[in-house]
Amino acid sequence: MPKYIFITGGVVSALGKGIAAASIGALLESKGFKVTIQKLDPYINVDPGTLSPFEHGEVYVTDDGCETDLDLGHYERFTHLKTSHVNNYTSGKIYFNVISKERKGDYLGHTVQVVPHITDEIKDAIKSAAGENDFDVVIVEVGGTVGDIEGLPFLEAIRQFRYDVGRENVLYIHLTLVPYVKSAGELKTKPTQHSVNSLRAIGIQPDILLCRADRPLPHALKKKIALHCNLDFDSVISAHDVETVYEVPLNFKQEGLDLLIEKKLGLPHRLGDLTAWEDVVNRIKNPKTEINIAVVGKYVGLKDSYKSLNEALIHGGIANEAKVNILWVNAEDIEKDGAKKHLSEAHGILVPGGFGSRGIEGKIEAIKYARENKIPFFGICLGMQCAIVELSRNLAGLKGAHSTEFEPNTEHPVIYLMERWYNPKTGNFEIRSIDSQKGGTMRLGAYPCILKEGTKAYEAYKTKEISERHRHRYEFNNKYISVLEEKGVVFSGTSPDGQLVEIIELKEHPWFLGCQFHPEFKSKPFMPHPLFRDFIRASLKAKARNSLFGLYE
Ligand code: GLN
Repeated sequence: MPKYIFITGGVVSALGKGIAAASIGALLESKGFKVTIQKLDPYINVDPGTLSPFEHGEVYVTDDGCETDLDLGHYERFTHLKTSHVNNYTSGKIYFNVISKERKGDYLGHTVQVVPHITDEIKDAIKSAAGENDFDVVIVEVGGTVGDIEGLPFLEAIRQFRYDVGRENVLYIHLTLVPYVKSAGELKTKPTQHSVNSLRAIGIQPDILLCRADRPLPHALKKKIALHCNLDFDSVISAHDVETVYEVPLNFKQEGLDLLIEKKLGLPHRLGDLTAWEDVVNRIKNPKTEINIAVVGKYVGLKDSYKSLNEALIHGGIANEAKVNILWVNAEDIEKDGAKKHLSEAHGILVPGGFGSRGIEGKIEAIKYARENKIPFFGICLGMQCAIVELSRNLAGLKGAHSTEFEPNTEHPVIYLMERWYNPKTGNFEIRSIDSQKGGTMRLGAYPCILKEGTKAYEAYKTKEISERHRHRYEFNNKYISVLEEKGVVFSGTSPDGQLVEIIELKEHPWFLGCQFHPEFKSKPFMPHPLFRDFIRASLKAKARNSLFGLYE
């Protein structure tokens, strides 16, 4: 049986529980333990697929096609874990399961209640994270903050869990805030005391406290927290701010968190090796050069909306020993002022995925600017679709070409809704349901793609068959392949049956690539994604070349 670590949050949200869970995973993995990480989200949506990125940040997609919380992105970036539907449960999903069972009569006439039926369903969900696999440790992050009404069933379930599987197999870690109060000139422990009290009131005594603060916790303060919260001194960990999130595993190790977990869970003591993490942090902190990448999108200014993209760009920088400065450009501003005003400082231009028509013409304008000025361009999902529209209109002369998502009656539907498509996962031709339902009507998850040799894509991946994750409804319309090919567009990646275009490039350009999938979901700091690595490399080259010719003056 695996050991379980439950991570709860106190005082305020957004303290970095996901990073903490992922970092603990990284620490344990560095010692050779097999780890999985699960997120329990107390909100009622069945999954975050229908949530606005404005409200909830990025929707992270797993190989098996689940739309999940962005914390799963942290789990995958920090470890070798491949998450799936068992790694993310919401209240909505739990209640949905219970209500479906009730409708089928599975409860045999009993009254269906939060305790035990909802809590039992949560405990089953927790056990499903390990499934039949031989994980040594299952880390479970409970979303929200202690004291939230909606989180109560989850906290009750994890309390019962220790009772069910044995004290020695479960560890409760509480992530809390120790704020620095300026007027007093000191760090304050009271919010943490209150938060631990609330946890104790529902029967959970935390075993370890991770104290988030803007500076390291002094010895005396740790002692005070330990005393008030009924903990050993060494169970109070200073989780202070660091320069990069990839430093957190190193900081936890320095604080002795790994030894503490081994001891408290009765795991065998192992030394562990964090040199890969040291190397990553070293490269981030000591870059040899820097570069400006413009991201032309819609959700600019919201850090979490493009979380994986942001990280993948940093990883591309790590691979090239460069610091990547991301210039977030609102596509609507380009519509107003033209591309040059907002992109003149950019050494590379990226148009990310997205939905809805706002800013579309600005994105297309940015792509035209990148093409004409030979600035490296990377289009992802909607970004590739916009590139197709730009190339069709301005290179192939197809007037008014558009995606039917934005212009249903366009004369040239270069991007359109494919109603029937072959799904290699099921071996069937599937019919895309085009009805009013918004959830679950997209091509989701990992699909194979075959690369053409001699292309930029092949040069990056150095292999013929790849697998990448998708999240979109619309596809390239194959009717337009030859007219675009004549103008120098290269279709460098397609589905194995050749029916779906997955990657496009431009011949007469230093680096111009669009992909229908989301490569950012699979990039890791110690394994930068090849497309991001090459995009940054090409942008560095463009920076050197164009400064010579005065494009940035
Ligand atoms: N809106 C586009 C589609 O549904 C692109 C989606 C995306 O970029 N993820 O096909």
